[in-house]
Amino acid sequence: MNNTYYNKLVFELSKAGRQGFSLPTNEFEGCYSIPNEIKRNDPPLLPEADEQTVVRHYTNMSNNNFGVDTGFYPLGSCTMKYNPKINEENADHPAFRQLHPLAPASAVQGALEVYYNTQKMLSEIGGMSEFTLNPFAGAHGELTGLMVIRNFHIKRGDLKRTKIIIPDSAHGTNPASAAVCGLEVVEVKSNENGTVDVEALRPLLGDDVAGMMMTNPNTLGIFETQIPEIAKMVHECGGLMYYDGANLNALLGVCRPGDMGFDVMHINLHKTFSTPHGGGGPGAGPIGVRQGLENYLPNPQVKKNDDGSFFVDYSSDSLGSISGFFGNFSVVLRAYTFLLSCGKENFAKMGSLAVLNANYIKEMLKDDYELPIGGLCKHEFVFNGLKDKSQHVTTLDVAKRLLDYGFHAPTIYFPLLFHEALMIEPTETESKDTIDGFIKVMKEIAKEAAENPELVKTAPHNTPISRVDDVKAVKEPKLTFKF
Ligand SMILES: *Cc1c(COP(=O)(O)O)cnc(C)c1O
Repeated sequence: MNNTYYNKLVFELSKAGRQGFSLPTNEFEGCYSIPNEIKRNDPPLLPEADEQTVVRHYTNMSNNNFGVDTGFYPLGSCTMKYNPKINEENADHPAFRQLHPLAPASAVQGALEVYYNTQKMLSEIGGMSEFTLNPFAGAHGELTGLMVIRNFHIKRGDLKRTKIIIPDSAHGTNPASAAVCGLEVVEVKSNENGTVDVEALRPLLGDDVAGMMMTNPNTLGIFETQIPEIAKMVHECGGLMYYDGANLNALLGVCRPGDMGFDVMHINLHKTFSTPHGGGGPGAGPIGVRQGLENYLPNPQVKKNDDGSFFVDYSSDSLGSISGFFGNFSVVLRAYTFLLSCGKENFAKMGSLAVLNANYIKEMLKDDYELPIGGLCKHEFVFNGLKDKSQHVTTLDVAKRLLDYGFHAPTIYFPLLFHEALMIEPTETESKDTIDGFIKVMKEIAKEAAENPELVKTAPHNTPISRVDDVKAVKEPKLTFKF
């Protein structure tokens, strides 16, 4: 709903003397008093409003939110799939919610069992020997995984290995994590098929290479067919292979990074295993390692005794601690619920449906939008803007116009390989009806761009806020409300 009256700021709705709150009695009255020198002299400037006004304000504001629960959200690389509500119920269960992170292992056996079982399931899914659930996000997992690789080389006394090879199609977090880890990033080019150019890789390999990071399917949604050969080359030069499995949808239950020759990997639980993750959180980026690297994983580690009970272990070879306690346990609970309720036998269906949905949209729209790399894609693909560029309608314009039709925009201007990148990932959870609706709208926008380009260039027209000046917003941000 777009109700202009209630889109006012709560300060604008304020009327002196109105109130709608009742505070609980202060049980600490007289126990502690705030020293006079830090007490404020004037009452705080807070809005004054009755309960009904406050309820309407926040309810209307929540209606301005866009999320997977309100509409189609084809944000490429982000996997905005439906988040089953049973995940939320389990994460909110008082037996889990009220746990204390310092409780002794004997008192939290159930939670440790969930943790341990999730580690085991992910190990099987990834073809890895062991997993840790400690990292808070994909990028955090990358950093942790790269620290494992660096520690592996350092512990062997091999101190020259300071370079990490990353394809030009990589997600931006890859080079960022490598830089934070103190590694020097060496970029390898993609060929005209959008996959890693093996001949360009060869001269980059040497005894100063710590490893190589790859995403498969890569961020163009294309399956890298030469992984076994690449892994062999990197291993022969003494480096390790890192797999960015932020989105494992397309491969889940079909093939495993461990079997392809990867040594270290991460999975984004918030993408592949459905945790609501708009606006930067919450997340979890567990990492897995092949046999021989387990001891380098961060502390604490959850392990199982011979009698079936669980304990918390600290390895002395470990790279140390990378998160408070055990990471984001509520996200682990959601992923565990998702894995159990989906069932191993259905994993492969997730991937094939996600791939089918992406290919269907690509084929239906490729006459209207420029498809730089054709052929079969995996769970996502990239257009390079409108096919007809004569009216100078950009990818940004198309994205803004989509908002008028009630769809979230796809990822735009990423990856950086094409100037007008428009990256679409429908996920497996959308119905054909929704997808057909999206296709129809995308075709309509292409038509508008040709016949009435101003309409698209000035979009959005139906949203609470019209087009913002991105440059001004960055250069002159207004972060507080001023009367
Ligand atoms: C999302 C994503 C990441 C980063 O994950 P965050 O949880 O956002 O840090 C890394 N690599 C790829 C391929 C991704 O899609």
